[in-house]
Amino acid sequence: MTINAVADIQCEDQNMRKITIIGAGQSGLQLGIGLLKKGYEVTIVTNKTAEEVERGRITSSQCMFDMALQHERDLGINFWDNDCPWVDGIGFSIMGTDISWSHRLDKPAQSVDQRVKMPVWMNTFEELGGDLQIQEVSLADLDRMEKQCDLLLVASGKGEIGKMFERDAVKSAFDKPMRALGLTYVKNMKPRDEYSAVQFNLIPGVGEYFSFPALTTNGACDILVFEGIPGGEMDCWGGVDSPDQHLEVSKDIIRKFVPEEADRITDIELTDDLGVLAGRFPPTIRNPIGRLPSGGIAYGIADSVCLNDPITGQGSNNASKCVALHLDSIVSHGDQPFDEKWMNKTFDKYWSYAQWVVAWTNMLLLPPEEHTLKMLAQCAQDEALAQRMANGFDDPRDYYPWFVQPNAVDVEKLWQAA
Ligand SMILES: Cc1cc2nc3c(=O)[nH]c(=O)nc-3n(C[C@H](O)[C@H](O)[C@H](O)COP(=O)(O)OP(=O)(O)OC[C@H]3O[C@@H](n4cnc5c(N)ncnc54)[C@H](O)[C@@H]3O)c2cc1C
Repeated sequence: MTINAVADIQCEDQNMRKITIIGAGQSGLQLGIGLLKKGYEVTIVTNKTAEEVERGRITSSQCMFDMALQHERDLGINFWDNDCPWVDGIGFSIMGTDISWSHRLDKPAQSVDQRVKMPVWMNTFEELGGDLQIQEVSLADLDRMEKQCDLLLVASGKGEIGKMFERDAVKSAFDKPMRALGLTYVKNMKPRDEYSAVQFNLIPGVGEYFSFPALTTNGACDILVFEGIPGGEMDCWGGVDSPDQHLEVSKDIIRKFVPEEADRITDIELTDDLGVLAGRFPPTIRNPIGRLPSGGIAYGIADSVCLNDPITGQGSNNASKCVALHLDSIVSHGDQPFDEKWMNKTFDKYWSYAQWVVAWTNMLLLPPEEHTLKMLAQCAQDEALAQRMANGFDDPRDYYPWFVQPNAVDVEKLWQAA
């Protein structure tokens, strides 16, 4: 390398734009790695080491569909394609009715335990030259950090610090948790008869139970997700105080409310003592611009400003799509300042996608309307409709308006025309 070439690189280094990200989850790490690959200087500040994440409690069921997985492939960080069992379809049943159907996804989905994924991505981030700092970030820290970078991004998920972003009362449909959540990671679950799938079971008046295969810290597993209507019979995790008890309650729920699935769980056992989770939170949309004590601004991405109930399994998918959009938006902004105008414009662009996911997810948190039930019943007889219903999980915009809006379309005509 000539002396001039070295000088050019140093000069380029001095002009490198500095981005600081709070949080090393799906969005923080995916964006951090993407920005490093585009030549940015990136710092991620997060509150857990890779070892703590790996040895910690499960955080999610994190099933991701093809569009979202493609954004990971684009960055070359899809490290688990040979080890993680693929989810090939969607199965759907409404208990107490004869509504039951399934269809293959056009392209498979995948769930890699965040305890597996995030530690590896943290290493990748550091190997690419990223600065990874471990610290519980406070508002005062944000104030200081904002002065030292060109753009301060908050990717703290459900973390308390996200409350610095004001709740948007117009965009937020609910002000309380809509489901009591339970997660159970298990081994020895009997596979579905046909292909692997997210097997989604709606239990009217009680909630939802779904399951699908995944990869966890000790190999392949299945994840059981329980979504209990608050105050209802599946809102039952309150007195559970041991992993074994959590497993027993999971089995009881399935035997009682989804007997069709009971023979699949006869031999199940927990993947590990931390493979259980229970909790609840209100789905909330926030203003993405946060004001700091000394006048600076921070910008929120993914769950920190657009938090959905997991009923449709969209949070990690949203996070990945949010990152792809922000990566483009940051890079194409070149040397210009990341001011409020840029932030508002970029969030609006993201919201033009996310609003459809949010509305569809919120719709499923309410008792199903007649047209919704009609459409779901029709899937059992109409393969093309079932295919479209299943694949909407990959891009929920496709549900509009036919699935979501009453009388938007005469379904028979639509499918005759297809
Ligand atoms: C029960 C359940 C089931 C789910 N199932 C699915 C599913 O099947 N499919 C799907 O797509 N999504 C699912 N999700 C949602 C998905 O997990 C999240 O939407 C996704 O992880 C959001 O990514 P994120 O980057 O915004 O936040 P996260 O991945 O939560 O990352 C936040 C990061 O910020 C760090 N942090 C927080 N506060 C601070 C602080 N003060 N200082 C420093 N660091 C901080 C955290 O440690 C973490 O590293 C589920 C969620 C739950 C709760």
